[in-house]
Amino acid sequence: MKILTDSNLEAIAKKVEAGIHVTDDDALAMLSTNDIMGLCSIAHNVKQKLHGNVVYYGVNMNLNYTNVCMLRCPLCAFSRDKHDADAYVLSLDDIAAKITQAGDIDEVHIVGGLHPDLPFSYYEDMLKTIKAINPTIHIVAFTAVEYDYLSKKFTIPLDELFTRFKNAGLGSIPGGGAEIFAPEIRQTIAPKKISGQRWLEVMAIAHRNGIKTNATMLFNHIEKPADIVDHLRHIRTLQDTTSGFKTFVPLVFHEEYTKIKAKRKEPTGYDIIRIYATARVYLHNVPHIKALWMYVGEKLAQVLLQCGVDDIGATYYDEKVVHSAGAKTPAWGSEPFLQHLIRDAGFTPLRVNASYVPTR
Ligand code: SF4
Repeated sequence: MKILTDSNLEAIAKKVEAGIHVTDDDALAMLSTNDIMGLCSIAHNVKQKLHGNVVYYGVNMNLNYTNVCMLRCPLCAFSRDKHDADAYVLSLDDIAAKITQAGDIDEVHIVGGLHPDLPFSYYEDMLKTIKAINPTIHIVAFTAVEYDYLSKKFTIPLDELFTRFKNAGLGSIPGGGAEIFAPEIRQTIAPKKISGQRWLEVMAIAHRNGIKTNATMLFNHIEKPADIVDHLRHIRTLQDTTSGFKTFVPLVFHEEYTKIKAKRKEPTGYDIIRIYATARVYLHNVPHIKALWMYVGEKLAQVLLQCGVDDIGATYYDEKVVHSAGAKTPAWGSEPFLQHLIRDAGFTPLRVNASYVPTR
């Protein structure tokens, strides 16, 4: 039986088998193929070589400490101005209460807006407060955008900032803020946000300081396939130098309540599968590809486990950002729910923290 019906994929499969890195043109071919089974079989082989039959998941909570943000990016449905009626900042007591209330979690994922008034001590004390409640908790905190902001606002060089936060309890860094690196697209979806180049610089400095990070890519707004390939290339190139990215996380853009009128339909299942599978094949040097079930929906997330994805995300107790933009998935998934999705697809679930250290 002939498995691959797309001749481009045949050439790509041979390269992957021989350990030859695929090219940008190969990535473009993968992003446009209709031979979805063939593409998934290539990506699945890569995933199986790296991780065997294991699929990772986390038990975590989300902590969005403030929705006040000076940037008010057009792509964002979460942020508010300081004086808006529903603007908020969590106090350290609020944060302590939320961590305690979340109970049996291994990890807390912290992302917030760029608040003009919070003192530097707030950020350091937030990390210390969480560690004091649960020293084993892994803290994944602040995007490259927040680090750039704090570094400039408090005139603390990034190297020093990372050291101080590590001493306060920081474990690793989420991949947010990458959006899409292409400047002309970024100019429309997040004009005031740091450039893609700066995002990569901040991550390179984190990596140099021994902090592993994720990388994200926001797709299905106004980007073209070439912008996706450009984004992947920047990540692959930096990874060649630092090896600091542990996970790549494509994120489907949800436009509800945002200012972006992409005039696109919902991405099809094929659109989404192509991006995850292409990422798995192209990013040969990034160990993990994560599909956040709450972004793609739990059913498609399960399918993606056969298309190169080895990490289904986490329980995400109290997620606010994607749900502000209209995600219809539940606000959090229980651990048995995630285990069921993984087992039902024929894989072995492994509970890990954000550094892929097993926690059970
Ligand atoms: S996307 Fe991030 S930086 Fe932009 S407005 Fe929203 S919270 Fe602020």
